[in-house]
Amino acid sequence: MTDFQSVFGAAPDGVWAAPGRVNLIGEHTDYNDGFVLPLALPHTARATVRRRDDDLLRLYSEQGDGRITELGPDLDPGAVTGWAAYPAAVVWALRKDGRAVGGLDVHIDSDVPGGAGLSSSAALECAVAAACDGVFGLGLDPAGLALAAQRAENEFVGVPCGVMDQMASMCCAEGSALFLDTRDLSRRQVPLDLAARGLRLLVVDTRVKHDLGDGAYAGLRAGCERAAALLDLPALRDLPPVALDGALVQLPAELRPLVRHVVTENARVQECITLLDAGDLAALGPVLTAGHASLRDDFRVSCAETDLVVSAALAAGALGARMTGGGFGGSVLVLVAAEESEAVASAVRAAFAAAGYAEPRTFAAVPSAGARRVS
Ligand code: ADP
Ligand code: MG
Repeated sequence: MTDFQSVFGAAPDGVWAAPGRVNLIGEHTDYNDGFVLPLALPHTARATVRRRDDDLLRLYSEQGDGRITELGPDLDPGAVTGWAAYPAAVVWALRKDGRAVGGLDVHIDSDVPGGAGLSSSAALECAVAAACDGVFGLGLDPAGLALAAQRAENEFVGVPCGVMDQMASMCCAEGSALFLDTRDLSRRQVPLDLAARGLRLLVVDTRVKHDLGDGAYAGLRAGCERAAALLDLPALRDLPPVALDGALVQLPAELRPLVRHVVTENARVQECITLLDAGDLAALGPVLTAGHASLRDDFRVSCAETDLVVSAALAAGALGARMTGGGFGGSVLVLVAAEESEAVASAVRAAFAAAGYAEPRTFAAVPSAGARRVS
């Protein structure tokens, strides 16, 4: 464990933190102009930074390769590989927008589990974006920083992600989930007082990540876009549930389940919003479980490990469960009565042991704050 001073030999200007997230519901909807409902985790990436007098960018991560990556002013997509591409991408995206981002020393330390579908990448990007905004006085709002971070990941790192992760990391508020319309970024903080209802949201990180996921994401996204084009719609978000059956028969068979997932998933987000506004949090359970079935059977992004968490948790009395994140491994979100929480977690661990899988990591998802300056 090092700190900024020991890595860069000077005191920092400040520290910014940005959280990872779990998505309550609304999976694979963000690149279809749809609805999402993420909450920020207590886990954060922290960027400790100092402005430089020159135009060098020096990057160090506690979770990196133990070396300082030093980059000159000419940042180009493809020129930076490995983890340093993420923070470099954010500086690149802000500069490309004409923002006056000069040289910077950056020390990263994160406790967001990586590659677990909890958005360690967006946490890292948003911590750096917020730090740049702070030290260079850019005056951008959280959504503007989130969009720059998304463009950074899309165009510089080369991951075609939607905007949910960065918006969640920048804009979530403590005690709430963020109801976000990814078409126009309109949003509302929806109170999520689980403890008051005797409930808990457990995150089960399966610790598996199947390689399949990387290419599959782009293919699924392209399939959704093709379906929207065939239906002559701007995006699948524009297909209302009442028109679903009529639309499906116009599509090639391989696109139908994708469209069914996106349309029903958007409807599930709205159903969850209605339940949350009514304070009926326990009733979210079956909606989450239906979302999992749709990801498993229609979108086909689940896997044996995430399916096992869901079935074991439900068999042990959980109110609902679904995989969260892009899929092919990663984490499962489980809604459970607080007093049943430990029993459900043990049942999942026992099921994993019986299947010969490595022990999953479990923790409670406490709705936490979005990106902020911490010192
Ligand atoms: P997720 O966002 O679901 O955690 P991704 O594959 O999108 O998974 O992002 C993980 C990548 O983000 C890592 O491979 C690494 O390159 C980068 N990353 C995230 N956090 C850190 C960190 N603390 N230090 C260095 N790199 C990080
Ligand atoms: Mg990511």
